[in-house]
Amino acid sequence: MKIKLGLLYGGKSAEHEVSLLTARAVSQAINFDKYEVYPIYITKTGEWRKGSALAGPAESTKTLQFGLETSKPNSIASFLPVENDDASKLDVIFPLLHGPNGEDGTVQGLLEVLNLPYVGNGVLASAAGMDKVVMKQLFAQAGLTQVPYVHFIRKNWKSNQEALLQQMEESLQWPLFVKPANLGSSVGITKAANREELIKAVELAFKYDRKIIVEQGIVARELEMSVLGNDNPKCSVVGEVLPTKDFYDYEAKYEDGTTNYAIPAVVSAELLKKMEDAAVRAFKVLDCSGLVRADFFVTDEEEVIINEVNTMPGFTPISMYPKLWIESGLSYSDLIEELITLALERYEEKQ
Ligand code: ATP
Ligand code: MG
Ligand code: MG
Ligand code: MG
Repeated sequence: MKIKLGLLYGGKSAEHEVSLLTARAVSQAINFDKYEVYPIYITKTGEWRKGSALAGPAESTKTLQFGLETSKPNSIASFLPVENDDASKLDVIFPLLHGPNGEDGTVQGLLEVLNLPYVGNGVLASAAGMDKVVMKQLFAQAGLTQVPYVHFIRKNWKSNQEALLQQMEESLQWPLFVKPANLGSSVGITKAANREELIKAVELAFKYDRKIIVEQGIVARELEMSVLGNDNPKCSVVGEVLPTKDFYDYEAKYEDGTTNYAIPAVVSAELLKKMEDAAVRAFKVLDCSGLVRADFFVTDEEEVIINEVNTMPGFTPISMYPKLWIESGLSYSDLIEELITLALERYEEKQ
């Protein structure tokens, strides 16, 4: 019997398009002798679609028509595993969703309630990892080094703008990085060099979230590491992001091809060890499972500063997370296989 694998993709998030890329890539790498693939598409407005219309013509099961919006919406109830209707029950779900409503624990909570095993992080890790403020507070608890930052909500900005600006100017050094607290792919992030730019950056970030974080900018290498596992996570080789423009923004990540990467990055044995230690500590303090990509800044003095972890990192074969594993000796399809195994193991352990 083939394993019924639900691929959940799209999503009500600014990272919808990134998810489509991921879904297409994963669907092409799946071992169709072992898995029967069920595409489940969430539209940009949050409607759920499933069914054969998404799977493309029968003769080419490998071509899933991702992003198709013509099929009828399905109610969430149609995903419920109904008794005596085992045919409708999927064995495992791979949520290929990034950002809010996908990477943030909401979909993970739904899958928990539906009693379905799923790939990747659970509710707590996903939620804590999506909120940069909560994540930073937990990282501090774990003794991880971070850049100085300030955070506030829209209401306080509206009523206390001058006081907040003064607080930032006094406690942080220019330039500043202004970010929505809950997002990814650099969406809504601006580098601000002065008060005027800061105000504009804050207004932009508030378009995406009611809470924002303002960080002190750092001049450092950007090094990333992939972590894989449940209770005994393993670390990949290190990758380096080498943006040729101001910073690693959305266009640099997905569109304009201006970014260079070094995979593996040149790192000393000592630095590698420090990064592995920090990545595992970050993984554990958020109670992660399955996978995370840990993003670091590393100074000339080799101080390891954690920027964030991504609980559902970019996952196309040319994305950093899989590429670091490929470089470490694990192929893209073996990585998918390993993640599904980890998902089933975690599910079994909870029973
Ligand atoms: P993703 O989830 O895609 O990795 P994100 O939206 O969570 O991205 P960050 O990783 O926090 O955003 O930041 C995006 C980029 O902005 C970083 O890769 C880096 O180039 C730059 N950046 C962010 N914060 C800082 C900082 N404090 N100092 C210097 N550069 C920064
Ligand atoms: Mg992120
Ligand atoms: Mg992200
Ligand atoms: Mg990042």
